[in-house]
Amino acid sequence: MDISHIEHIGIAVKDLEASIRFYEDVLGLTCYAIAEVADQKVKTAFFQVGQTKVELLESTDPEGPIGKFIEKKGEGVHHMAFAVKGIEQSLARLDEKGIRLIDQKPRKGAEGLDIAFLHPKSTHGVLMELCEKK
Ligand code: ZN
Repeated sequence: MDISHIEHIGIAVKDLEASIRFYEDVLGLTCYAIAEVADQKVKTAFFQVGQTKVELLESTDPEGPIGKFIEKKGEGVHHMAFAVKGIEQSLARLDEKGIRLIDQKPRKGAEGLDIAFLHPKSTHGVLMELCEKK
């Protein structure tokens, strides 16, 4: 695999507005984008931190993935995303190695990136995302 850096860390929050205030007023970061990803049932806010972003995720539906995560575990780190070159080949190689893939093929995520998730049962407990800018 060809991983260049951590693209973003996804953090599940209950209240996007209140969380943005914390990242801006307390941490001194600047929110540069807010976007809704309808098929993931989330509203997202992005902060650039060096090469890496912090992606805050607020659920728009209690039955969505973030709604369920918060119900079970409360607010906190939800996933980590690696920037990769050749996302299709990476998924094929992981599949060959028996790694459980949530997405067999890349799909469109926030910011127009191609993304795919790996199951935390196959990654020692971390929900991992691969992303590629095309
Ligand atoms: Zn993500």
